[in-house]
Amino acid sequence: MNITPRVRFAPSPTGYLHVGGLRTALFNFLFARHHDGKFILRIEDTDRNRFVDGAVENLISTLHWTGLDYDEGPDKGGDYGPYIQSKRLDIYRTHAQELIKKDKAYYCFCSPERLSMLRQEQKHTKDQAKYDKFCLNLTPEEIQKNLSALKPYVIRLNVPQNQIIEIDDVIRGRVEFNSETLDDQVLIKSDGYPTYHLANVVDDHLMKITHVIRGEEWLSSTPKHILLYDFFGWNRPVFAHLPLLLNPDRSKLSKRQGDVAVEDYRAKGYLKEALINFVALLGWNAGDDKEFYYMNELIEKFSLASVNKAGAIFNTEKLNWLNAEHIRNKNSVELLPELRSALKNSVYDESFFSDEYLTKVIDSMKERITFVSEVITKSPYFFAEIENYDPDVIKKRWTVETPVYLSKLSEEFSLLNNPGKEDFENALKKTTENLNLGIGKLIHPLRLAVSGMGAGPGVYDILFIIGKEKTIDRIKKAIEKLS
Ligand code: GLU
Repeated sequence: MNITPRVRFAPSPTGYLHVGGLRTALFNFLFARHHDGKFILRIEDTDRNRFVDGAVENLISTLHWTGLDYDEGPDKGGDYGPYIQSKRLDIYRTHAQELIKKDKAYYCFCSPERLSMLRQEQKHTKDQAKYDKFCLNLTPEEIQKNLSALKPYVIRLNVPQNQIIEIDDVIRGRVEFNSETLDDQVLIKSDGYPTYHLANVVDDHLMKITHVIRGEEWLSSTPKHILLYDFFGWNRPVFAHLPLLLNPDRSKLSKRQGDVAVEDYRAKGYLKEALINFVALLGWNAGDDKEFYYMNELIEKFSLASVNKAGAIFNTEKLNWLNAEHIRNKNSVELLPELRSALKNSVYDESFFSDEYLTKVIDSMKERITFVSEVITKSPYFFAEIENYDPDVIKKRWTVETPVYLSKLSEEFSLLNNPGKEDFENALKKTTENLNLGIGKLIHPLRLAVSGMGAGPGVYDILFIIGKEKTIDRIKKAIEKLS
């Protein structure tokens, strides 16, 4: 590529960042970083009916959490700002006027009543719902009269008849549209705001966007955009429409079948690394079967040429698997903030535990969890004393002799000075030898005594983490309670 690519993520602030939006943002980001280009955030907020308070701030903070840093944007500035469309209204009006002068757009004063009658009629005759260009025939005098009378109006695109519009999409190949299927799109609404189509094209041009990478749901808008580029006499950007996101039953990904907001995934305890990794695979792979990626590898490997056409299935099981893999591959210390925030949402007092202690707990549990919060739910014995012992394990592992064996073991433990894992292990071996027992006779009831459970991390890990005093206390308490 000889010019520096400039790409953009152009969300409409609806109140949250949709996972599909994250995929679009990510692919733009990867493309920009791979080619040493620029990644721009532009807020498309010209639909006043959909205005949501705080939506932009929320979007930016979520994007920030994912690590998709942009080079230019509303809070960052840049040479082509403002990056919020509601602050660019004059630009769109001037451009609409330019099209009117070229006869490529026209004023339309039709009342809502007339438009609805027209629609009824077309429904009746089974014609495509389309504006009938009635106002295209107004004389300059009539237009002037209406404007002076302050009659409400919109500005419409003058779509040419029977013209084939071709798009060479990087992902979809050549796509053709007949202009007959296009409505004379409103470009400026009666409230003076531009529609998505006009604002999007004008901004992509003025912001020198080289590649438009966006979801397939926008493909049907692209012929209108092509007309706009041509009418203005501008070069078209390269288009790349990303495959649809589907539920496992192949229906369009929707709120009804699960979470779609990135915030929800964050709140559920997914690591950003896992979410990014997962979203990267929604329509892209490097041509092999590798699935575990860090951001730097994604940047290195990503290309639009290896994005698929076929819809991408949103498979939560894969996301869970990736979350577990990313947890496993992180330093336990890096997971401390996650564990602390999970503890804050639990019944335990987070301030009670030192970083050192929690790091050891994570070390022991990292291989056994899908979410960091499971450190707490799967091993509550690291955070509180044992109140309940698993009845099945009692039945299977606790015999009449157990109290005697465990007392001996406890005596052996009490002789240890600041024991490490091996010291506990050696003490247990010694006890079994003295008692002439198999290791199982001691190890299973010991686990039950210190954890209340029959499974978990290595028993010596548990002993080492909770320490000698607690170990001895818990053995004593179990003997009292279970005998
Ligand atoms: N504002 C559109 C959206 O909400 C942008 C589509 C595009 O990238 O052109 O996704």
